[in-house]
Amino acid sequence: MELSFDPSGNIKWKVTDDCIYYGNKRIEFIDVISVILVPGVGFIKGELNIKLKGKIFPIRLMFSKKQQDDAQIAEKYIKEKASLESSQDIEHRKKCNVCGQVFCFTQKDLEIKKANQTLVSIYSLKSLSGSIGGSSYSKFENAKRADAALSRIVDYSKCPKCNSSDLTDISSQKYYNN
Ligand SMILES: [Zn+2]
Repeated sequence: MELSFDPSGNIKWKVTDDCIYYGNKRIEFIDVISVILVPGVGFIKGELNIKLKGKIFPIRLMFSKKQQDDAQIAEKYIKEKASLESSQDIEHRKKCNVCGQVFCFTQKDLEIKKANQTLVSIYSLKSLSGSIGGSSYSKFENAKRADAALSRIVDYSKCPKCNSSDLTDISSQKYYNN
């Protein structure tokens, strides 16, 4: 995704996968709280009116009439990105200090991991109690379930490539400047 707007006489801006660039300024999708498209009329330019967290005045991203279609795509895209990233799915990025591997996982991944860890402890407990009271079959089944849940747990504190735990957190801006 990259849509560039060059409204003559106004600040250039563009929408990319990662953020919005308004002149030299970087606007994070996570900071956007509303987007309104105001269509151009006659010789008057249209604008994407963007309100940001903690800012009183909106940013006005101007566009010429011929870029109206692109502006609509940009509006839709920003809305999607803003609600997506401001909700649960925060992305964590890590860089391995040994082999340089960069890897990402989301808040959702961490929640899935937590859920699997709970399963492991439930089934492990059941497989133990099965050895006391229950049949050897249920003991075996529960041990198998515990193993399955365990195998789904990803260790995000280690590099997936070289297994080193020497990692640097590069979440947010740092990642883009590399
Ligand atoms: Zn590594």
